[in-house]
Amino acid sequence: MGGAGHRPDPDAPLDLAMLRDRYRHEEQALAVLEHATDPRPPTRDHVLALVPIWHDDRTVLIGDAAHPVGAGQGASMAIEDAIVLAQRLATDPVPAALAAYDEARRPRVNRMLKAGADNRARKKAANPVRRRLTDTVMSFGLKHFYDKATGWLYNYDVGELPVTA
Ligand SMILES: Cc1cc2nc3c(=O)[nH]c(=O)nc-3n(C[C@H](O)[C@H](O)[C@H](O)COP(=O)(O)OP(=O)(O)OC[C@H]3O[C@@H](n4cnc5c(N)ncnc54)[C@H](O)[C@@H]3O)c2cc1C
Repeated sequence: MGGAGHRPDPDAPLDLAMLRDRYRHEEQALAVLEHATDPRPPTRDHVLALVPIWHDDRTVLIGDAAHPVGAGQGASMAIEDAIVLAQRLATDPVPAALAAYDEARRPRVNRMLKAGADNRARKKAANPVRRRLTDTVMSFGLKHFYDKATGWLYNYDVGELPVTA
């Protein structure tokens, strides 16, 4: 293990034999290891592939299943998804409601995904000097521009949950 700032290499080979031995008494963990097609070391930097299709005529993905944002906003996005889906289902029949849900949520979720990716890229690129500089600029920026820069995220009104009779 490394010291502060150590980041595991997500492409490093994984010692499967060691893991099988460590989890030898755990049936479920062993089954997962047995069927893993692309095992990688655990890292908080691993980003799952985008999920381009969120629905068909009868099924819809919401929350992390559709868009793991990895930016400390996943629960918020999942809750918003659920509310918007309920709103669309209250006014449109399936499958139109699922398509309308997708259309309504894409722009905001894509913006969130981009914000998460930008955040990760900034952290990855930062050397100690740059990090110090960023912290200084951020503390100034937070005071002056925070509301403006994050308004799209925090001042968003998703609307009400539909009420059934
Ligand atoms: C350490 C950590 C910190 C986080 N901090 C924040 C934060 O500060 N703010 C924030 O907004 N978000 C945060 N998140 C992200 C947030 O937890 C997720 O984005 C959110 O829980 C996604 O909700 P979900 O309902 O889409 O999925 P989940 O909460 O993962 O729910 C999916 C459910 O489906 C169940 N399930 C899975 N497979 C099956 C199956 N085959 N059959 C039946 N059930 C199944 C699972 O057991 C689970 O209960 C954090 C996540 C982690 C891991």
